[in-house]
Amino acid sequence: MDHEHVREVDPAVADALDGERDRQEQTLAMIASENHVSEAVLEAQGSVLTNKYAEGYPGGRYYAGCEYADEVEELAIERAKELWGAEHVNVQPHSGTQANQAVYYAVLDPGDKILSLDLNHGGHLSHGHPANFTGQIYEVEQYEVDADTGYIDYEGLREAAEEFEPDIIVSGYSAYPRTVDWEEIQAAADAVDAYHLADIAHITGLVAAGVHPSPVGVADFVTGSTHKTIRAGRGGIVLCDEQFADDIDKAVFPGGQGGPLMHNVAGKAVGFKEALDPSFDEYAQNVVDNADVLAETLQDHGFTLVSGGTDNHLVLVDLRDSHPDLPGGDAADALAAANIVLNGNTVPSETRSPFNPSGIRAGTAGLTTRGFDAAAIEEVGDLIHRVVDNVDSDDVIYEVGERVVELCEEHPLYE
Ligand SMILES: *Cc1c(COP(=O)(O)O)cnc(C)c1O
Repeated sequence: MDHEHVREVDPAVADALDGERDRQEQTLAMIASENHVSEAVLEAQGSVLTNKYAEGYPGGRYYAGCEYADEVEELAIERAKELWGAEHVNVQPHSGTQANQAVYYAVLDPGDKILSLDLNHGGHLSHGHPANFTGQIYEVEQYEVDADTGYIDYEGLREAAEEFEPDIIVSGYSAYPRTVDWEEIQAAADAVDAYHLADIAHITGLVAAGVHPSPVGVADFVTGSTHKTIRAGRGGIVLCDEQFADDIDKAVFPGGQGGPLMHNVAGKAVGFKEALDPSFDEYAQNVVDNADVLAETLQDHGFTLVSGGTDNHLVLVDLRDSHPDLPGGDAADALAAANIVLNGNTVPSETRSPFNPSGIRAGTAGLTTRGFDAAAIEEVGDLIHRVVDNVDSDDVIYEVGERVVELCEEHPLYE
């Protein structure tokens, strides 16, 4: 992967691309929303389909010359249907956020009501945050996780729904380490005659592999990002029952987007094919097992985890007990200096600013892709502890950084 054509035209960008390739090789990608796609997905995403306009859907495009675009999109749709067991799939959303926008646009009018999880408790900007357009054109109320347990407060959610009478309830989260009970949320939605959008952006791969229960067939709409645990490259997806197919398709195009990014749709098709292989189920199980090992290792070192552990691919550490003077952003900076890349994250009952919050979030999808097993993950947990305990020691950060590079060399990404 030596970007030779870019280098001929633009050495500055080639340098940056080489730098990024090397950064990914030599650091631990533990940002819970990230993963590493295969070279096959990269090739599809970097293909000539970037040149093609294909507004519309397979068999009904607004431009000529779409026969190969049609083939690729049909394959992506077919495979997604098989992966998630959905009646209808739209693979054109440019990203998970655009997938959510399509659902809102399909079923809500401006001023309608969204009930979603508070961002500090693991929600997402596209679920009605004031800084997002959804927070401005819709009326938004939020539910929370239980302050003591860290689990979704399903009873509180039901009560909030009865009081607020939302038009849609949004479930699915960015920083929630536990299994989501889709039926409970569906029951809350049914009780007030609201739609239910289950946004599985983070756990698309876990749901496809059956290591997390599926909301497909439970919630009215399921959305996701395709670059997270499903490992199919940048993009988004909407899954729904046949009865909503036309509304969703119209809301994606022309409602919210222009021409689909057909090269990304090709990446999705290839990534979905890889995910249909039985080896992907094993991968997803390993992701979850590795997160469990990480959780236990960190707890053994005295860290407090929100909800006391994990059922999925991520852990959320609340640093306030073990390191009351160390904000999560500062911890993340020290870890990055030691080649461990994760993010500072808000925690329930947050007492700091979102720019330097009280927690750190770490996921195992990327490391598992490059073959980290339980023993290697345990060592990573030890290294995280060493750095967080010694954020002011350049020696410790240097030593850990060197060890991380060795671990990365033992688990190469792109050869
Ligand atoms: C990541 C994420 C999204 C979508 O993000 P994009 O960057 O637009 O793909 C949506 N919802 C949740 C809960 C997420 O974590």
